[in-house]
Amino acid sequence: MADVILPRFYGCYNCRKHVALHDDIVRKDFVAGHRRRAFLFCHVMNMVAGPKLNRRLLTGVHMVADVHCSDCGEKLGWRYEKVYEDSQKYKQSKTVLEKFKIVKLNW
Ligand SMILES: [Zn+2]
Repeated sequence: MADVILPRFYGCYNCRKHVALHDDIVRKDFVAGHRRRAFLFCHVMNMVAGPKLNRRLLTGVHMVADVHCSDCGEKLGWRYEKVYEDSQKYKQSKTVLEKFKIVKLNW
């Protein structure tokens, strides 16, 4: 009989609401502004997105929307709404969560 394996979640560091699954990480070596570590996720949950804005990031201009925890409203990262450069297209529709803003749950 197989053991039940609970999925490994990340939660909001502020209220511990589940916001993403470990298995949904696309890139672990992401860097947010000012050299802060971040993860790129293909899917997140319990998030509310802000307005879409064109913003200049390290890799060029992208249309992004900040994402906030649906429970406490804390800003946890941003979502790439539209990516203009071909070399960066893999980011489109994916979400960056800053590492210091998420905590491991169920590990
Ligand atoms: Zn929260």
